[in-house]
Amino acid sequence: MINTNNYKKITEVAQINKAQLVAVTKTRPQEAVQELYKLGQRIMGENRVQEMVEKQANLPADIAWHLIGHLQTNKVKYIAPFVAMIHAVDSIKLLQEIDKRAKESNRVIPCLLQFHIAQEDSKYGLHILEAQTVLGDRSLRELKNVRIAGVMGMATNTDDQAQIQREFQNLKEIFDTLQAQYFADSPEFKEISMGMSGDYELALQEGSTMIRVGSKLYE
Ligand SMILES: *Cc1c(COP(=O)(O)O)cnc(C)c1O
Repeated sequence: MINTNNYKKITEVAQINKAQLVAVTKTRPQEAVQELYKLGQRIMGENRVQEMVEKQANLPADIAWHLIGHLQTNKVKYIAPFVAMIHAVDSIKLLQEIDKRAKESNRVIPCLLQFHIAQEDSKYGLHILEAQTVLGDRSLRELKNVRIAGVMGMATNTDDQAQIQREFQNLKEIFDTLQAQYFADSPEFKEISMGMSGDYELALQEGSTMIRVGSKLYE
């Protein structure tokens, strides 16, 4: 089910670039996750809460489950006890809910701010001014059970490599700006989650620290 050669190639390229691979297992059966686990993979990415909860209950406990898709506030409670990272946070309201549920589980949950970098219309993702509003909000300091660990974005689904490259550069610039402005003394703000099956090499070249690769692992 897993293309071992592709898996090895992707992990190797990630390692050379000191980046982590989030193996995207959404819509794939538990056997696929087990195969990846046997190959040594420990970080898995899912985009639906219910699917992630079911897999987490049945698969090895040392898998780090990353939620990479859009998260509704009313579903945070189901994943707060175990989720290792939430990639697509785009509002203070969602951060507040994650904080509340993380606190109930006695945890601190690392979160990434999702940015809208693609040309495509999308309901999701912040623009830098909105992020600056969120990060400048005093109430953020009271949230002790979330840790803002970096940024995340998705490039346009296009064959135009130059455009994808510009979008990744844009996300890197956003990261650098926010780091200087709000996280100069916070080494935990360090992740740039960008790059998928079609563009992970370009993303690594532009500074990605986390690639989220799905389909290429199964081809
Ligand atoms: C599905 C998905 C991926 C993986 O996409 P592939 O093209 O299959 O590698 C990465 N990030 C997010 C947010 C996704 O939903």
